[in-house]
Amino acid sequence: MRLINLAGRAHLQTDNGAIDIAQVSDGKFGPDPQSLFADWKAFAAWGEDADTSSATPFDVQALGPPVPAPRQVFAIGLNYSEHALEAGFAVPETLPPVFTKFASALTGPEGELVLSGESVDWEVELVAVIGTEASQVKAEDALSYVAGVTVGQDFSDRAVQMIGPAPQFSMGKSFPGYGPTGPALVTLDEVGDLSSLRLQCWVDGELVQDGIAGQMINSLPLLVERLSAICTLHPGDLIFTGTPAGVGMGRTPARYLTAGEVVRTEISGLGSMTHRCVSL
Ligand code: ZN
Repeated sequence: MRLINLAGRAHLQTDNGAIDIAQVSDGKFGPDPQSLFADWKAFAAWGEDADTSSATPFDVQALGPPVPAPRQVFAIGLNYSEHALEAGFAVPETLPPVFTKFASALTGPEGELVLSGESVDWEVELVAVIGTEASQVKAEDALSYVAGVTVGQDFSDRAVQMIGPAPQFSMGKSFPGYGPTGPALVTLDEVGDLSSLRLQCWVDGELVQDGIAGQMINSLPLLVERLSAICTLHPGDLIFTGTPAGVGMGRTPARYLTAGEVVRTEISGLGSMTHRCVSL
């Protein structure tokens, strides 16, 4: 099942377009995309058998974030060893760095990225969406608490992120529009093997990141175990699972986004997002 947000209304994506969930379910589910997480299991069961014969084509420019208003957004740092090295940090052996992208930073998969400064960087990431409340969950059971996954970008203003005396990861990564997700929330049955997902990012057509989810130091199940050991994870919460190598900060010399550049973010089987950079 592929769930999309079209102009603020929850839709199921099909081969022929999309259906409006509130209309087809006679108001049982939706239209608010976030409301589907009130009872994700019931919605998912309905979605598997929904009548999609009325699907019509849609304009990708109308796509919003599939999960527009999560209660919590977790983001993981240093979850790929090559990226940890390029960032100049040791590879974490237990709990990786955890920060948030404040929900006001979330946006959809198409549109403009308003640059906050001269050191704005890209980070393609697999984003997981929680489907069932999770507390003290073990890794072997963790995927049953996950509604699905989507493509994310963890845009980062490195100057703000590194402001002393202690780093400000959450602030540097939470300017408006710095947390795009989409185009669809894809359920795990449709994804298949999570570890084989390929994460790629292009800047103006140049491939700058190219990684495999299986290279994560903490796999998604292990992240759910480690986060839920401390925090209760709520249905509709997001987890940005970290970025592979190839960010601008790790280059010599460093390279950052400039107005007019186009960032394309893609994960195999999940889809892609396109953002055009503009100056403040
Ligand atoms: Zn990141």
